[in-house]
Amino acid sequence: MNLVEHVREIAKNSPEKTAYHYLGQDTSYAEFDEKVEKLAFSLKEIGIEKGNHVAFLLGNSPEFLISLYACMRLGATAVPVNPIFQLDEISYIFENGDVDAVIAIDTLLPLLDQGKNRFSRVEKYIICETASCNEEMYTSISNELKNKIVYFSELLQTADGQIAPRTINEEDTAIILYTSGTTGQPKGAQISHRNLYANARDVAHFMEYTSRDRVIATLPLFHVFALTVVANAPLFIGATVLIAPRFSPGEILQLAKTEKATIFAGVPTMYNFLYQYESGNAEDFATLRLAISGGAPLPAQVLHNFEGKFNVKISEGYGLSEASPVTCFNPQDRVRKVGSIGTSITNVDNKIVDEDGNELSPHEVGELIVRGPNVMKGYYKNPEGTSAAIRDGWLYTGDLAKRDEENYFYIVDRKKDMIIVGGYKVYPREVEEVLYQHQSVKEAVVVGIPDENFGEAVCAFVVLNDQKANEEELKVYCAQYLAKYKVPTEIRIVGELPKNSTGKILRRNLRIN
Ligand code: AMP
Repeated sequence: MNLVEHVREIAKNSPEKTAYHYLGQDTSYAEFDEKVEKLAFSLKEIGIEKGNHVAFLLGNSPEFLISLYACMRLGATAVPVNPIFQLDEISYIFENGDVDAVIAIDTLLPLLDQGKNRFSRVEKYIICETASCNEEMYTSISNELKNKIVYFSELLQTADGQIAPRTINEEDTAIILYTSGTTGQPKGAQISHRNLYANARDVAHFMEYTSRDRVIATLPLFHVFALTVVANAPLFIGATVLIAPRFSPGEILQLAKTEKATIFAGVPTMYNFLYQYESGNAEDFATLRLAISGGAPLPAQVLHNFEGKFNVKISEGYGLSEASPVTCFNPQDRVRKVGSIGTSITNVDNKIVDEDGNELSPHEVGELIVRGPNVMKGYYKNPEGTSAAIRDGWLYTGDLAKRDEENYFYIVDRKKDMIIVGGYKVYPREVEEVLYQHQSVKEAVVVGIPDENFGEAVCAFVVLNDQKANEEELKVYCAQYLAKYKVPTEIRIVGELPKNSTGKILRRNLRIN
């Protein structure tokens, strides 16, 4: 169960087949395999070994795929991070995740320079050159950082040899994904080679991917929804990944048309924007046979609008980082049910249980729990978090759900305090902690509020101490420490917060539906 060896077999059997397409250029499976081998060799030459942790701060690009597969071949663990994170967010992950090396786009050089003393463990920065970087960014960085930099392109060019075969156990950690789980600070979900392989295989089979498929990869690859559904599963089956560097409705429709895409996967917000894009029409998606939605609840209206305009059926699915991520999908060989996340995918069991862990009957609401070869090994260096999340072999998702008589599942609510902004997850605690650091804030609580385009928006209720501050000032303050999507779009300054008799803030009373 090793994805990189599996894809290597495809490169041997179908060397000419296009593995990925990027900005007008095709790369075959044989070329992809060669680049992976070269990078793995060069990484080894600069001291990166089996067991090292390599963070990625990369956009959707061939470099992402090559880096991931090269790390897997070496036995190094990849730690994908959202490249729009602020320094504090990145530092937390680098420190908690024991990051030894970083592969990053060059536009992040100023940020890496600023953070170098906080990333004391990082010995090497592998920099990918982009068109957006200017000369000044390169010249203005400190010598201390310069001495630790190597260039991705040079690593590919200078590689001269092959790495000796590595013994990679299927239980070795392939990637660590930072997520907050059901509560608290971000935790590193350790996904093994077996987990990644199994979910890529089972998604490909359940969703009936074939080697003729051409799959648009516009969802961010640092998130495991994208990684499995639009990268690893297509590569598993020998299909072609159409890498889109960003999501823009016009560019996606153009790509779909010119490259004859057959599968698109997106979060509900993307379906909404595609529908709203006036120049789009059914012809753009004429070759599409499957549209996949996940990451957030898909409103029925968004589904009907999109299907009416583009004449392509959307299949909703569900997953979470800790399950690599997919556990359910609307099946291809049976009826698709609107509002349902579908049935359990191959090899995965989903179950609804009450507070005591007893299985509930159809239509009864309880917590969704999951079991299968895709369920993570546990959180990195966090045994308590792991034993709270995985009990008796079942992963507790923190999502409230029900099922019908045909075992189709429906997400009803969340037990966990999570907000989903256009597919991106925001954990209130992280935002609250930033607000509490502001000198004028006495108390803060963060909740999700409905948003027409993004599903939910972040709203903070704040009680001030005797120092004055206004909403705008607090937003600007948050933006220094948090990625843009986590910054509250609405801040309500209130006299007091609702609390129970023990003084606990009643977060749920503030949720506005
Ligand atoms: P992440 O770990 O970032 O992938 O987030 C996983 C969470 O996203 C799940 O626990 C759910 O709360 C939410 N989620 C994913 N897919 C769906 C869906 N189809 N409907 C509702 N919530 C979803």
